[in-house]
Amino acid sequence: MNTMVPRILHVDAGGAPVDWMTLRSAVVQYVQGKVLWEIGDRAFIMRGGRNQHGVQSEIHVASIIATVGQHRRSFGTTPALTNSALFARDRHVCLYCGDRFPVSLLSRDHVVPQSWGGPDTWDNTVTACKACNSRKGARTPDQAGIPLIALPYAPNEAEALILANRNILVDQNDYLARMVPDRGERWQ
Ligand SMILES: [Zn+2]
Repeated sequence: MNTMVPRILHVDAGGAPVDWMTLRSAVVQYVQGKVLWEIGDRAFIMRGGRNQHGVQSEIHVASIIATVGQHRRSFGTTPALTNSALFARDRHVCLYCGDRFPVSLLSRDHVVPQSWGGPDTWDNTVTACKACNSRKGARTPDQAGIPLIALPYAPNEAEALILANRNILVDQNDYLARMVPDRGERWQ
């Protein structure tokens, strides 16, 4: 029901992306006077209570807002590796058989197995369906004879934010996409 409610792209004073904000949290930033600047094509009108003259308060929330203050997340760091972020990077496609699966049938595969010293990092993990993962076992793709159809990589912060929001708005996507390196033709 609320899945189509947009989120607000929260950036710092310099324009570096910080996180996604709910509309409600964004309203709080406006009310507290913390919004430094705003851009974006869309504005969401949030209506509040009526004053003694019967005038209803109204706040226009832009789709991208910059706020004052120090932000926890520093741009340029590698986003946390989670299964949901990994599956989103790989578009829910198993990088061995090339089919798309629901989350319940996907797993995190270590290209170089952890038992061989392969790290649990973006560069060494891919989305694999559970069938391919068990077929591959504790072997490298070469050893198992099942090549990868695309190479793993670590997304940057902007890319991770794009991947994390299924209801991303066009202007928000455009804003973040400028900070994503060209991946070329990733898929074979
Ligand atoms: Zn598969």
